[in-house]
Amino acid sequence: MEPLAEPAPDLAGLKIAAFESRYPKAATLMRALLEPGEKISLVTTGWRSTFVDDVFLGFPTLLSNRTLVIGTERRLLLIRCGGRDLEPRGYVNEVPRSALLAAMPVPFMSLFTTAGTIRLIGVPGPGKRSLSKDHDPDARPKGQPRYLCPACFVAHERYVPECWRCGTAFRAPWRAGLRSLLAPGLGDAYLGSFAVGVMTALTAAFLWLNVIAFLHAAQSVTGSQAEAVGAAASGFLALALGAHALAGGVSWARGFKGLIATTAELPAQPARVRGQWPAAR
Ligand SMILES: [Zn+2]
Repeated sequence: MEPLAEPAPDLAGLKIAAFESRYPKAATLMRALLEPGEKISLVTTGWRSTFVDDVFLGFPTLLSNRTLVIGTERRLLLIRCGGRDLEPRGYVNEVPRSALLAAMPVPFMSLFTTAGTIRLIGVPGPGKRSLSKDHDPDARPKGQPRYLCPACFVAHERYVPECWRCGTAFRAPWRAGLRSLLAPGLGDAYLGSFAVGVMTALTAAFLWLNVIAFLHAAQSVTGSQAEAVGAAASGFLALALGAHALAGGVSWARGFKGLIATTAELPAQPARVRGQWPAAR
């Protein structure tokens, strides 16, 4: 493996050496992801924000979309991470530098890309400056975000059931959707977002408990009271079924954010690095 290029003295407040000792798993993956000769110009973190999450999950998005941003002269690597230890989880996206469409000033840093929008929020100041630096507002953005196979790092343009190069199978959006349709939250857990899954499951459980409670109450009342209680039970039943449908749709959409291997989490130490695979087709 190529050694890391001599880093700039300070990378968005995170020196490379300090980064590597503090976040060994993320640093190992970062090293494995770099192509020969590729130089790091930025290491920072933020939260990836997507339309589906913003609209249907809001604040809990921050629980599931923490993202490590590795900037090089040719691309951004967006590594989904969890916990305080920045443990890589799930997937890696690659955004060509040329695809950066806009960099919004404070308080939020946003990256708009040509096809399919990726936005990052909560990127600290130095990271924002670095991301804005290369941005040319007059240039037409080229390229689009791509999904990297979590096992061999070959880039895929869109969701595919399995990697053509290494055969790793990926978690299917429709499977995530079906799981959440049957049991809200299960699809999110399948995609590795346990916090979001639990919150979704609790919401659905609350609605079902109300259905049961009102059905139970209906047995002990008569007349107009019974009608009111029955109406409440029907209302909650409709809400609960709606929650299942919504959770299914949201999980399905969330399944398209990146390639997640069926077999394992994103490895801290990939089995092989890019150069050891046969040339890309
Ligand atoms: Zn692969």
